[in-house]
Amino acid sequence: MKVGFIGWRGMVGSVLMERMRAENDFEGLDARFFSTSQVGGAGPEIGGAQTELLDARDVSALRACDALVSCQGGAYTKEIYPALREAGWTGYWIDAASALRMESDAVLILDPVNRAVIQRGLDEGQKTFIGPNCTTSLMLMALSGLYAEGLIEWVSTMTYQAASGAGAKHMRELVAQMGALAGAAGDALRDPAASALDLDRRVTQALRSDDLPSSEFGFPLAASLLPWIDSAMPEGQTREEWKAHVESNKILATSEPIPVDGQCVRVGAMRCHAQAFTIKLRRDVPLSDVESTLAGAHPWVRIVENDKESTLRGLTPAAITGSLDVPVGRLRKMNMGGEYLTAFSVGDQLLWGAAEPLRRMVAILRERL
Ligand code: NAP
Repeated sequence: MKVGFIGWRGMVGSVLMERMRAENDFEGLDARFFSTSQVGGAGPEIGGAQTELLDARDVSALRACDALVSCQGGAYTKEIYPALREAGWTGYWIDAASALRMESDAVLILDPVNRAVIQRGLDEGQKTFIGPNCTTSLMLMALSGLYAEGLIEWVSTMTYQAASGAGAKHMRELVAQMGALAGAAGDALRDPAASALDLDRRVTQALRSDDLPSSEFGFPLAASLLPWIDSAMPEGQTREEWKAHVESNKILATSEPIPVDGQCVRVGAMRCHAQAFTIKLRRDVPLSDVESTLAGAHPWVRIVENDKESTLRGLTPAAITGSLDVPVGRLRKMNMGGEYLTAFSVGDQLLWGAAEPLRRMVAILRERL
């Protein structure tokens, strides 16, 4: 199978390359690498060999591939995808960008959760397979057991999203802001006897200063948070909040939409998104059944005991970053009644939230072709 990779050196693309190397996915694959900016330069080293980078805007070179995997971004997709299809290319397009997600002929891919939907798409001759929004994917990875049993009437999500969701430059800026704040604290941080009020004054002053690096986020994220992600939608939601409902229902191909709504918040985590759920169950299911249903959904989800030690050890971005595990904890019924469940989950948004569904889609196609 000839597979072309575009956007392989970006944030999502490099995690994809790392995972494909780790899983030996390049073995026997005719992989070609494209670039929008470094045509003719050296591509990534695969099995000791390096190929020359092809032009990501050369439709005839792209057309030679059976499948194209793009982690380049929505602008590239909007420019190249229609041109390829108009040129008669009938290969498989696998994409991390959101540009094509809501197109009627696009299948959203999250195979531990919707393998049957992907299979149906393939059987029906669909050729466009798109990775869903990271937070939505991580929600479904966490809750798919309850979804599969038809136990969910609605979900409200309150998210705590990492800097990585906005790209590599934003991750750098978060760390630069942290460094600037530590620098501004100076003596007040080094001297344990210094007053906390003095420390707070210095940090607050630095947070509000024009010198704080903030060209990417536009505002301080370190020692603060940003309760707005992406653009505005007409109903007062942000686009990130809007995606959770429309994309989760498309991923699952629900016949009746299952409402999902809440607030999405950027916090100073590096690459793991976390989210708190309020779930209205269709009936009052015992908590032990809820736990076994969640845990049985797929190999990557696991239950964290609702105690302080287990939670703080295993249910944080610091514990989960770089891992495919999707832990679900803080599970309990709420004061509102037995049908109301709360839970908290964490997941690496660059893995299940971005690169991993694409990697697995290439593997699914390989089995099929
Ligand atoms: P990114 O890091 O900005 O990379 C995109 C492209 O920028 C690269 O492929 C590269 O293309 C170019 N580039 C320019 N300077 C670069 C540098 N110094 N290092 C690396 N690449 C550089 O974008 P991304 O965060 O991976 O996102 C790619 C797409 O996936 C977007 O549509 C995004 O919305 C979507 N997505 C992102 C996430 C996420 O968590 N970040 C999650 C899900 C989906 P050339 O090699 O052609 O120059």
